[in-house]
Amino acid sequence: MTESQNSRTLSNSSDVVVLGAGPAGLVLGILLHTAGIDSVILERASRSHVQTRARAGFLAPNTVRILERHGLADGLHRHGSRHGTCEFRTEDGRLRLDYGALGPGEPHHVYPQQKLVTDLLAHYLDLGGRIHFGTEALVVQDADGARPSVTTREPDGSPARWTARYVAGCDGRYGAARRSLPPGAVRHHHDHGVTWLGLLAESPPSLDAVGYAIHDHGFAGHMARTADVTRYYLQWQRGTPADAWPEQRIWDELDVRMRAEDHGPLRRGRLLERGVFDLTCDVIEPLRHGSLFLAGDAASLLAPAAAKGANLAVLEAELLAEALTDALARGDTAGLDGYSDRCLAHIWRAQEFTGWMTRLLHAVPGPEQDAGSFFHAALQRSRLASLRTSRIHQDWFAENYVGV
Ligand code: FAD
Repeated sequence: MTESQNSRTLSNSSDVVVLGAGPAGLVLGILLHTAGIDSVILERASRSHVQTRARAGFLAPNTVRILERHGLADGLHRHGSRHGTCEFRTEDGRLRLDYGALGPGEPHHVYPQQKLVTDLLAHYLDLGGRIHFGTEALVVQDADGARPSVTTREPDGSPARWTARYVAGCDGRYGAARRSLPPGAVRHHHDHGVTWLGLLAESPPSLDAVGYAIHDHGFAGHMARTADVTRYYLQWQRGTPADAWPEQRIWDELDVRMRAEDHGPLRRGRLLERGVFDLTCDVIEPLRHGSLFLAGDAASLLAPAAAKGANLAVLEAELLAEALTDALARGDTAGLDGYSDRCLAHIWRAQEFTGWMTRLLHAVPGPEQDAGSFFHAALQRSRLASLRTSRIHQDWFAENYVGV
């Protein structure tokens, strides 16, 4: 179904209005549609934009199970790959952990987020799902009442109003759902004090593992995406723009931090994308305000050090779909009542492990070499030593690394 066909069947009233067509919004939209719930997705960006936005790549076993359960995993099984090894590179040498064989014994699946989003969107449209691109939610109103509404800016710039029984805020960190929370809503915020330069390189992976390099210059990371594209990260001076260094300098610095001289060269290629992001995180509590529910990045933002965000988004979408279906199809609101607490338990666990990973990968909590830097570096070495020598610690790591 095309976008113009969609707009001919436009109805500004439905049981559920879903804001945002990322992993959370699309999984939710598909599950609601499959359950026969009248719903619509409003997406600020264009279809081509959401299908090409490169972000996550590592999908946890539970995410894959959810996608399989609903017939949404064909693409990732056909084109994705399995990944179960990570490698820490330090001045003491290499520590390789076959985490896919440790703990619960499950690897990640690697499948670029934009490909997953493309698959989900195609599936949703094939089912006859309604989606409106270029439609920006501005504010959610009357969430306390029986008929909340969403005011939007439509593609032609005109305002419109969408009414529903429930609104699902899956519109990310800067979306309208967060902006519409009542004054009593709490946002717990934490800054890990570290900034990364995220890079997408047109080059095959350089190692058969997730690479985490711990170096005096700062952290560097390597993560496979596809056979031709690899993600790299460099710990970066906060406030420095992404284009401050030429490509040659970036590759040279990646070589230094990844210790290419000792462990083999990196496969260089054109840098397709650069982005700077501070490793900050937050949690909104509760995730329900009347008839407005938050899921995915709108509910909680995680630093990408442990690759949890997209996985939580899919998990929360499934929980919310079940709860909304129970409420709308059967009049049973227990799932909606428990939604926030259920999700928050997963979110805080993921935040805890992400914080642990962030401290493992960065010796100094911030760009400044402060008086505590020796102390933090010693703690970091001790954490790695424990991971190197303790099987129990390795199992704990594997369980948390692949879990949500
Ligand atoms: P999003 O994907 O952000 O989707 C929200 C949608 O809402 C967007 O399409 C947006 O256009 C739309 N929107 C926004 N505002 C409005 C509005 N006002 N009205 C209507 N629509 C709106 N996670 C992992 O699990 N594994 C990884 O390996 C991983 N790697 C990452 C690497 C990077 C560089 C980054 C930046 C993130 C990474 N993440 C990873 C995190 C992951 O990408 C996010 O957690 C995930 O995209 C969250 O999905 P979502 O559906 O909640 O939000």
